[in-house]
Amino acid sequence: MLEQFKLKKGAKLVLATHNAGKLREFKQLFAPFELDLTSAGELGLPEPAETGTTFHENARLKAHAAAQGAGLIALADDSGLCVDALDGDPGVYTADWAGEPRDFNVAMQRVETALQARGATTPAQRRGNFHATLCLALPSGEDLIFDGDAHGTLIWPPRGTIGFGYDPVFMPEGFDITFGEMPAEQKHAWSPGHTGLSHRARAFAKLVEACCE
Ligand code: IMP
Repeated sequence: MLEQFKLKKGAKLVLATHNAGKLREFKQLFAPFELDLTSAGELGLPEPAETGTTFHENARLKAHAAAQGAGLIALADDSGLCVDALDGDPGVYTADWAGEPRDFNVAMQRVETALQARGATTPAQRRGNFHATLCLALPSGEDLIFDGDAHGTLIWPPRGTIGFGYDPVFMPEGFDITFGEMPAEQKHAWSPGHTGLSHRARAFAKLVEACCE
């Protein structure tokens, strides 16, 4: 691995996002490493269109746009919900299923309607996973990819008000509460020796293992 991928204390890193929620979550995740964090939004960089058809493609195009725009190492993430009975949908289109302006009650209902249409009623027929891909990119064009998954079951009706997006309908494997009912600490925190249950926390743990000291 190239030395430039090592994220040492004080190193500058651009978070390739214009989303305040993601920025907050990443800042919390990176807190133990004392990096000098900035974001594509704060630098006034344009937001690239997510034209890829895979999580890897979209994470890559966001990370490379920020790395080249800023002339600095950049980190992007792309994530979504993949439902087995829906052949992996909504997948990379997870945000789009919420329409414009975004309404995640609409999105969760859309998933439920599609599951009902397939006759998926038992927990075994309603399995799915959240997926996250992180891409760390250098201005020179090299990159590293880290993937994380959280497997579970889609429940209905939605439960819980903590979290965001599809959290109220996702019950992670081994639990009888949804992500929407789960404290942030348990869902997506990371600290030495503790990795949260979420796809993003699991991908982040791999990045830490490879790049952080
Ligand atoms: P992205 O900005 O293209 O990565 O969009 C990801 C989509 O997946 C958004 O619509 C989120 O609501 C949804 N999503 C990603 N991670 C989570 C999660 O941890 N809980 C609930 N929804 C999520």
